[in-house]
Amino acid sequence: MSDGRSPLTELRDRLIWLRTLGVEEIGGAGPVHAGPVAESAAGDDEAGDRRAGAGYGAKPVTQPGLFGSGRMDGAAPPDRGDRPRLRRGAGGAPASPIATTVPPDAPDTAARLSLIRADLGDCRRCKLHEKRTSIVFGVGDPQARLMFIGEGPGADEDRQGEPFVGRAGQLLTKIIEAMGLRRDQVYIANVVKCRPPENRTPLPDEVITCSPFLFQQIAAIRPRVIVCLGTPAAQTVLGTRETITRMRGTFREVDGIRIMPTFHPAYLLRNPAAKREVWDDMKLVMACLKTEE
Ligand code: URA
Repeated sequence: MSDGRSPLTELRDRLIWLRTLGVEEIGGAGPVHAGPVAESAAGDDEAGDRRAGAGYGAKPVTQPGLFGSGRMDGAAPPDRGDRPRLRRGAGGAPASPIATTVPPDAPDTAARLSLIRADLGDCRRCKLHEKRTSIVFGVGDPQARLMFIGEGPGADEDRQGEPFVGRAGQLLTKIIEAMGLRRDQVYIANVVKCRPPENRTPLPDEVITCSPFLFQQIAAIRPRVIVCLGTPAAQTVLGTRETITRMRGTFREVDGIRIMPTFHPAYLLRNPAAKREVWDDMKLVMACLKTEE
């Protein structure tokens, strides 16, 4: 997709966006990996449990890159031709991707989401495709007023093709139900749509390649509130490098959408005491949704 910008302008916008996402150095770019989809990446049931120490919750993220010190070793260049469009902000500077992503033109939200899914296709834009079984696009009500965003599918999600169905997902379902809602009344998606091997935190090039599809989903649904589950989701959606511990508990607002960062359910499985804070955050979300019924 091209929006008529010159290659130089596109490159400049992209570099500014990378800076917004916290990437300070790009090195070792290699070819885009391509090849057949591998058989099931066998895994355990701990979707995200191991990642809790790396990307979720209160611990500082130690992995270099987007969620760390900002180095992109071995980053494969994204396939620019297939990348969803980002509209430029006023004065030429790209604003937050939420404010600037243009959803595909379709009569309703469900149709827009179908177009985004079709655009994703049998995605091989990054190397995560090599070990995935399923592309885990997202699930829920296309008209949802509340959206939850996690980091990436785990083993169960990869097998079933649906986000948050493993142990962490069952806890998320309980949280949603405790809020007086059903899973099918909210929309649930992830920053990356394919399972990172060994449930590792997605690498910067994977996030950069995949997150435009998440921003398209957000732009299509336009929920009133987004709950970002864990550091990678919050950092990607908000374009910040702050940790979840600093961010949680307070709404941010981007383009009229309220964003609540909170701990990832996988972190809660390891640190049950933090459930109280998440519940405090969900009460704020419920109050926000209630005042605007
Ligand atoms: N963790 C996530 O971040 N997303 C899922 O879909 C499952 C576990």
